[in-house]
Amino acid sequence: MSETPVRVRFAPSPTGKLHVGGARTAIYNWAFARANHGTFILRIDDTDPERSTEENTQIILRAMRWLGLDWDEGPEVGGDFGPYKQTERAQMYRDAAQRLWDEGKAYPCFCTPEQLAADREAAQARKDPFQGYQRRCRNLSREEAQARIDAGEPYVLRIKVPEDRGDVVVRDAVHGDVTFAARELDDFVIQRTDGTPTYNFATVVDDAAMGITHVIRGDDHLSNTPRQVIVYEALGAPVPTFAHISMILGADGKKLSKRHGATNVEEYRDAGYLSDAFVNYLALLGWSLDGETTIIPRDVLASQFSLDHVSKNPATFDPKKLDWIQAEYIRSMSDQEFADEVMLPELHEAGVIGGDFEADEAWVDALAAIVKPRTKFPADVVTVTAPVFATAETLVYDEKSVAKGLAKEGMGAVLDAAREALAGLAAWEPAAIDAALEALPEALDLKKRLVFQAVRVAVCGNMVSPPLGETMALVGREDCLARIDRARAMAL
Ligand code: GLU
Repeated sequence: MSETPVRVRFAPSPTGKLHVGGARTAIYNWAFARANHGTFILRIDDTDPERSTEENTQIILRAMRWLGLDWDEGPEVGGDFGPYKQTERAQMYRDAAQRLWDEGKAYPCFCTPEQLAADREAAQARKDPFQGYQRRCRNLSREEAQARIDAGEPYVLRIKVPEDRGDVVVRDAVHGDVTFAARELDDFVIQRTDGTPTYNFATVVDDAAMGITHVIRGDDHLSNTPRQVIVYEALGAPVPTFAHISMILGADGKKLSKRHGATNVEEYRDAGYLSDAFVNYLALLGWSLDGETTIIPRDVLASQFSLDHVSKNPATFDPKKLDWIQAEYIRSMSDQEFADEVMLPELHEAGVIGGDFEADEAWVDALAAIVKPRTKFPADVVTVTAPVFATAETLVYDEKSVAKGLAKEGMGAVLDAAREALAGLAAWEPAAIDAALEALPEALDLKKRLVFQAVRVAVCGNMVSPPLGETMALVGREDCLARIDRARAMAL
């Protein structure tokens, strides 16, 4: 553990929903904070007024909650370093920019867009490798600059990259030391004409003010980092450790996008992925525990996550692996967990059971035991349990199943015999029901498959329902017999 307490932040821009890449960045920050007993901060980078919306912010917060990434400081929970939305920190950026100007580390620039374009073209024409800002306003006197501002001339504030600043070496926990040539860094803008801060400035002012020790984010920001290092230096703030994590690619090797399918967290939630399974899968996109373990429960992630095991190679999003992990999570639930966390909520949501649903615990567990192995996604629960929640009147008979299993010569006799055997059973329980049905094929001189098929279609309406004895036990004797009576009319 490092000596300074770890403070990390996830800083989404609410210009859209939370996508898979953002979610993975959030997971790494969260897990890193938890594994180091540090603080996980959520900050909303909403400085782009055209594209940021409150609705997106709410969607992101909801997605974070669904992912189970609880933040220690940020919107809704507060903290000592707030506010946690950049639009509410505007004054801080102006103050910081003013301070840098006062200290001679920043200066106003009055160059018009036309002037800048002309300078760039001239640099291109003379094949100057440096085509950035030509520092025209760097040496204006303070008085002259102030006079032009007072006269109403529009200006931006630019940072003054020190003359003697050598190459900038970014120390990155994933990429190692990455060197950027100082001459590539022009005196970049920190405050726009309208007084708003640029991303590279606002981010560093906040990260410095919030005492961020590790900046973990997508490697699309690696190229911004040398500029940010210059800002830290100007502010006199310690430079944090960076960790730039790789891109997520689709199966075709291109950056993951809509073309590859769902990219937003809420689409996965709505499709029925379990939050734990989804977090487990995303955590593995670029990080590994030991190079082989695939099932990594949240508490293991939160105690074992480390930046040393983050790969700098791009990760490929593999929906099949996600589904496999989902299946593993469902399989590893106890029947009771499955009932409480998946089955009953799903049945409620689908309106199969109402708020007043009451059933004895053993009945619910027995249902969970036959439904769980047949569930890949929560929505499967509704289909699988349909015969159980139907009644003799409401049961829907699948036409093909009826044609194949019931509407056949001899099946009427099967149902008659089954009815009689079942009606006379002493105990209405799976083993007894199965035993009674097992005795029929021989007595009727029919193949077992045909007998079971007929009874299954009569009682469940289809041929793919869960095991017959268990299902019939859950349905209850009276209703099973009523179903057989109803089906009798369809049998020959
Ligand atoms: N708001 C930025 C983004 O969403 C944050 C980048 C950063 O973490 O510095 O890309």
